[in-house]
Amino acid sequence: MRPRNDSVLMALETYLRDVAVELGADHAVAAQDAKDVVDLETEVAKITVPKEEKRDFFKQYNPTTLAEFAKNYSYVDFASALRKVFCTANIYLEDDQEIIVQFPSYYKKLQDVLNHSDKRTLMNSFGFKFAAAKINSLSEKFRKLRYGLMEALSGKKGIEPRWKTCLQVVVGAFPVGVSKAYTRQRFSNDSKAYVTSMVKDIATSFKEILLEANWMGNKTKAKALEKLEAMTFIVGHPDVRFSDQEINEKYLQFVMTSDNFYKNMETTVRNVRIMKLQKLKEPRDDTEHAAKKSHEVNAIYIWRQNQVAIFAGMMQPPYFSETFPDSMNYGGIGFMIGHEITHGFDDIGGQYAKNGKLDEWWQPEDWSTFKDRRQCIIDQYGNYFYKTAEKNLNGINTQGENVADNGGLKESYRAYKKLLKRKGTGKLLPGLNLTQDQLFFLSAAQIWCGKQTKESAILQVDSQDHSPGRFRIIGPLQNSPDFAKAYNCPAGSPMNPEKKCSVW
Ligand SMILES: [Zn+2]
Repeated sequence: MRPRNDSVLMALETYLRDVAVELGADHAVAAQDAKDVVDLETEVAKITVPKEEKRDFFKQYNPTTLAEFAKNYSYVDFASALRKVFCTANIYLEDDQEIIVQFPSYYKKLQDVLNHSDKRTLMNSFGFKFAAAKINSLSEKFRKLRYGLMEALSGKKGIEPRWKTCLQVVVGAFPVGVSKAYTRQRFSNDSKAYVTSMVKDIATSFKEILLEANWMGNKTKAKALEKLEAMTFIVGHPDVRFSDQEINEKYLQFVMTSDNFYKNMETTVRNVRIMKLQKLKEPRDDTEHAAKKSHEVNAIYIWRQNQVAIFAGMMQPPYFSETFPDSMNYGGIGFMIGHEITHGFDDIGGQYAKNGKLDEWWQPEDWSTFKDRRQCIIDQYGNYFYKTAEKNLNGINTQGENVADNGGLKESYRAYKKLLKRKGTGKLLPGLNLTQDQLFFLSAAQIWCGKQTKESAILQVDSQDHSPGRFRIIGPLQNSPDFAKAYNCPAGSPMNPEKKCSVW
C-alpha cells in the first residue's frame, strides 16, 4: 500500500471525496470510495513503466494489428472501446488496423491489477475521472474544491485571475487562430531575417563540431551530416499560414453560446478530440505544430519531422531584441536555437534518422562511445543537489535536455565569435562594465532566472525532462572553458572545475 503521509495523495483523496459529496454522495461512503480509488491508482502507478526506461524508442516500437492486440489482451474489450472512440470521428477501425504498442509489459500487468480490484472501485475511478475533467467548467463552488490539490502539487495558493483562465481556454480551443492573431500583431520581418541568419550560423557551428568529433567514425559522421543537412527550420511561424477563411472553416463545428460556459467547453472538448482522431487518416503535416504554437514563448525540436521551430513568442526580451547587442541575442535565443539543433543528436534524437523515422544509423562502436560521453553528463547532473526540492536531480531523465543545453551554448558562442569577425565588436551596454563575451554568458544565464515553490520543485525533479533553471546554467557554464576565460575563473574553482563533460 502507499505511504499514508504523502501529501499529494492525501490531497487527491480529499479532492475526490469532496467532489462526490458536492454531487450528493454520503460523506462516509465517499471518503472510503475516494481512498479505494487512490489505492487503485497507486497500484496502476506501480506497474507503469518508469520514466528512466522510456528513453529507448526502439523498445517502444511494437507494431501489431487491432485484432492481435485485442486477442493478446482480451481481459478488456479494447477493440470495441477503440472503435467506439474513433466512431465519433466517423472512422471505422478494421481488424488489420496497425497499432503501435509502446509498453506491452504494462498491458500484461494491468490484467492482474484489474483482477484484484472490485467493480465498485473501478467504476468509481472512471466516474471520478469523468467528473474531475469537468470541474473547471463548473461554478466557483466546484472549482474551489481543487485548490487543495493544486496547492499540494504546485504550492500555488488560491485561484488564478479570471483573465488567465479564459485566455488558456481560448488558446486551447483555437490555437491556430490565436497564433495567427499574435504573429500578425507582434512579429516583424526584420526579426525574422535576423533570427534566420542566426539559425544558419549556429547550424554551421554544429556542423564544424561534428566534423571535429574525432571520437566518431566516418560512416556515422556521414549519416549525422546528412541528418543535419535535412533538418528543417521554422522561424516565428510557418511561411504559409492558414487564411482567415481556412481558420473559420476549421472551427465551423465549434458553435459557441454567450451564456453557457459549460456547454461551450463540452463543444470544445468534443471537437478538439474529433480533430485529433481524424489525424489517423490524414497525411503528416510538418507545419501543423508550429502553426498552433507561434504565440508561445518556446522553441522545439520534433524528432519525427527532423524539424526545429523557434516560435514568434520567443523572439522578444529577455531572449531576443533587435536593439540588443549581438552578444546578448546569441547568448539568449541563440543558446536556445543551438539547444534545439542538438536535440537532433541527443540520446533520443540519435535514434531517429534524417526522415524522422526510427533507424539505427550509428555504428555500434560509435553509439557506445556516445553513451560513455553522455554518462559524464548523467553523473554530473545527478550529483547536483537542489535545495528547494531537497533532493538530487535525476541525471538519466534530464540527460537529453542537458546535452542539448551544453551543445547549444557552445554552438551559439562559436557562431557569435564568427559574427564578430564579420561585423566587428558592436555596442556594449551602458552602465555595465562588461565585455561582449561576458554579456553573452550573462544573457544566457538571465533567461533561466526564476523562482519556484518547494512543491513545484519536487514535481519538476520527479517528473520532468528539464533540469531546474539554476542547473541549466551552472551545468553548461561549469563545462565551458570559454566561460571560465570570459570571467577569469581560476582553474579548480567551483565554476571552472577540472573535470568537464562534453558530448558535442
Ligand atoms: Zn529541449
